[in-house]
Amino acid sequence: MREFTYVGLPSRVVFGAGTRMRLPEEVRLLGAKRVLILATPSHAETARELLDALGAMGAGIYSGAVMHTPVHVTEDTLARVRALGADALVALGGGSTIGLSKALALRTDLPQVVIPTTYAGSEMTPILGETRGGEKTTQRTLEVLPESVIYDVDLTLSLPARISAASAINAMAHAVEALYARNHNPVTSLMAEEAIRALRRGLLRIMEEPSDLEARSDALYGAWLAASCLATAEMALHHKLAHVLGGSFDLPHAETHAVLLPHTAAYNAPAAPEALRRVATALEADDAASGLFALNARLGLPQALRDLGMHEEGIGRAAELAVKSPYWNPRPLVEEELRALIARAWSGDPPQPHED
Ligand code: NAD
Repeated sequence: MREFTYVGLPSRVVFGAGTRMRLPEEVRLLGAKRVLILATPSHAETARELLDALGAMGAGIYSGAVMHTPVHVTEDTLARVRALGADALVALGGGSTIGLSKALALRTDLPQVVIPTTYAGSEMTPILGETRGGEKTTQRTLEVLPESVIYDVDLTLSLPARISAASAINAMAHAVEALYARNHNPVTSLMAEEAIRALRRGLLRIMEEPSDLEARSDALYGAWLAASCLATAEMALHHKLAHVLGGSFDLPHAETHAVLLPHTAAYNAPAAPEALRRVATALEADDAASGLFALNARLGLPQALRDLGMHEEGIGRAAELAVKSPYWNPRPLVEEELRALIARAWSGDPPQPHED
């Protein structure tokens, strides 16, 4: 076995259908007495149910979380936190609501209980992305890592099948990159492989029956494992490209991950054969890249960047940006090859096997 360093982050996870009602217990464990619930209007009813369950510990609900954690929204909410004298935060929702909670925790040091409702995975990571005047900055600090996470499978039942698929393939991308990360280790690799297996199994059934609780449990379990990988593994080409394309061409986050993943897996396969073999095994496929491409098709996900609104002229610019600030990747980054990769992803062609 090769030498490795394993980093485990502190986390407490409560998992299962109906577990949101364990919130008062989790809050008491934190020693909190006045809790502010953060949400979006789509979760107003559940937020109210949680506030009632908290009884005297419930200080109020703030339903103004928005995408990309704009600093002005955080500052407005901060005033609310202070006015209420809140001593803990509860985030109920997807990555946007969790982002707001993390941004508040960074500024106040308040403890957080997070109840995720998508598969995006922010709840397990010490990563915070914020936007100020349209500019996004990302930082990594344990100060934003939630103290407690409640994965209530019931809350994912309302996530439409199509959004579930895109969100879960986004999660799968964390696991795929964790397997060949520079700092990969046997423990994150176990979690990553199991994440891919559970996400695939759950998703295929969700497509047929979105209210199947077992399938929803598999998908959420996989999302948790994938998020745990993202928390410590160093991401590479795939995440860099998704970030470049999403940011520079304003493409939808989760779908961009889904379109790119088969192609980035093909690109890195010659340099990380064991990692990609594990991906293929978890997908029950002969080969990781074609297995990921076929899975996207089965899930009805977009296969082409052009269908997400990217113009063909952007291909060269995207390849330039992808090599502009160097970062580690198992296989060297060659602009010309990346241009070919993005061109295939743009037109929706199958991934191209690479040889070194
Ligand atoms: P999101 O929170 O914006 O949710 C997407 C949409 O789904 C919203 O309209 C929301 O109201 C709706 N929704 C959420 N849960 C639902 C449910 N159960 N049923 C029906 N509708 C539901 O987005 P997201 O996809 O969860 O997260 C993406 C964001 O999170 C991005 O900004 C991304 O950068 C960030 N993110 C951060 C990290 C990190 O580690 N910091 C990790 C992953 C994602």
